[in-house]
Amino acid sequence: MTSKVYFAPFRAKKSSESLVNMVNRLFEKAGFDECISENDLTAIKVHFGESGNTTFLSPVYVKQVVDSVKKAGGNPFVTDANTLYFGSRSNAVDHLNTATQHGWLPGVIGAPVIIADGLIGRDSVEVEVNLNHFKKVTLASACVNANSLMVVSHFKCHMVGGIGGAIKNLGMGFGTRAGKQQMHSDLNPKVDPEICIGCGKCAKWCPKEAITITDGKAYIDPETCYGCGECLITCVPKAIKIQWDSSAQSLQEKMVEYCMGAIKGKEGKVGYMSFVMNVTPHCDCVGWSDAPIVPDIGILASKDPIALDQACADMVNQEKVNPNSRIVEGVKKGLDNIRAANDLDWTYQLEYGEKIGLGSRKYDLISI
Ligand code: SF4
Ligand code: SF4
Repeated sequence: MTSKVYFAPFRAKKSSESLVNMVNRLFEKAGFDECISENDLTAIKVHFGESGNTTFLSPVYVKQVVDSVKKAGGNPFVTDANTLYFGSRSNAVDHLNTATQHGWLPGVIGAPVIIADGLIGRDSVEVEVNLNHFKKVTLASACVNANSLMVVSHFKCHMVGGIGGAIKNLGMGFGTRAGKQQMHSDLNPKVDPEICIGCGKCAKWCPKEAITITDGKAYIDPETCYGCGECLITCVPKAIKIQWDSSAQSLQEKMVEYCMGAIKGKEGKVGYMSFVMNVTPHCDCVGWSDAPIVPDIGILASKDPIALDQACADMVNQEKVNPNSRIVEGVKKGLDNIRAANDLDWTYQLEYGEKIGLGSRKYDLISI
């Protein structure tokens, strides 16, 4: 199977068409209007950017997606789920404050902003997938309950997934805290006794009563803990640590399985658009932005997330390296541009996604 990927370059060439207008044209060309039925609640999945980050996708582009969804008859909202780690987006209040500071306002984007898994990340729905890593995945309720999805991603490198594109935005992004914990680790969180002050907050909060306080220190019983990750955000001194142990391959495969859950029941109702610009070595989850590794390339759209991520990665790898970026040495050693950013094999997710039927790595690139 060969999928279609539509491409609008960041070059004005002979036309003086604005970039934002290209978003609407791509939406039409990719047939995304066919994904949306009258009055659909359409979730537009974005990443609002961690506080301090400056290279997250501009809301100005997403406004165009919102307008196109409305024109197609949908009722759009712009959304993301809370993070696993303690940061500026780990509950809905902090998350909305961060989004506001980054310009994600209804007056700018033309649609409400909704935190997909609720105030403290507990608004979740389990979806049966019966795959190799997971029988069920735990997704943000707004993802599952939406009638259609537009996955709008900033394509860049990623320190654990290799690439941060459509698969990462959808699969990792719509996992709840419990889901993100399961994707990141096969182990449960651990308490650092050097930091724990024995306040007991985590023990009161834990839904499984897996935490006991002994000799003034918390202890997590690994047999009882089911890895929801909720204790992480209750501990003010940050004594509870995520065991970041999943291998790159396992994490990438798990993200793909979460994607399968996120689109289940939405056949023909999902579109993917990725912006290959500000291709930083790290994700927008970090509160800084290193220099982009290549020049800005363009906007790509497809109904196939595997083909889309493959096409974006191919374009980044075909570009000249930014001589001021950190990847120069890696490229000299023979790594591809993306791999040079974090020395991670980013292809597992595409191979696995193709194997389990999420999409195809073969694509026809159609320039508009
Ligand atoms: S909330 Fe943190 S500091 Fe308090 S008992 Fe639990 S691990 Fe220790
Ligand atoms: S991860 Fe969840 S179940 Fe495990 S100790 Fe923390 S709150 Fe309890």
